Amino acid sequence: MDLYSGYINKLIEELGSLPGIGSKSAQRLAFHLINLPGPKVERLAKAILDAKENVRYCKECFTLTDQDICPVCANEKRDHSTIMVVENTRDLAAYEKTGKYQGVYHVLHGAISPMLGIGPHDIKLKELMQRLEQSRVEEVIIATNSSLEGETTAMYISKLIKPTGVKVTRIASGVPVGGDLEYIDEVTLLRALEGRTEL
Ligand code: ZN
Repeated sequence: MDLYSGYINKLIEELGSLPGIGSKSAQRLAFHLINLPGPKVERLAKAILDAKENVRYCKECFTLTDQDICPVCANEKRDHSTIMVVENTRDLAAYEKTGKYQGVYHVLHGAISPMLGIGPHDIKLKELMQRLEQSRVEEVIIATNSSLEGETTAMYISKLIKPTGVKVTRIASGVPVGGDLEYIDEVTLLRALEGRTEL
């Protein structure tokens, strides 16, 4: 029996397809949204559409930004010869929050996962290699997660970069296994960064 109207079902279905939202949460969110005043719902819908329309990849590091070049890459005070490779923009944000990292980043938008059928060509790896060719880079710090995928990716990148003579380091494994970088506190992140070892 269909308990709700088609519109509500559709909304629950869409919300439920978002990461981390189970069917119970999707229902709760759907009813919350329906009970909000019209203008508030419009603001939310507009924020989603505006973000989708205006947010793109930074031409250098591929993080999400609404400019051609993100504020980190555009900052001349940053050390452009040190590139930290992260899996996603959230990880970049986590390191930025520490305020201690002075280099720039490269966002892969994923990690290699044979299980999920994600190969080296499905992440921004080719773009990283192009950066290494085009500019003078002294160190690449691999800060992918310590999950199986993150480690696989780190190994792959290190093998790829080694022949170029650029120094490759890996953040220390003080980061809990399988832990998403964004959930780790700043002190742990900094310790992982400072304790990095050459691959
Ligand atoms: Zn950038």
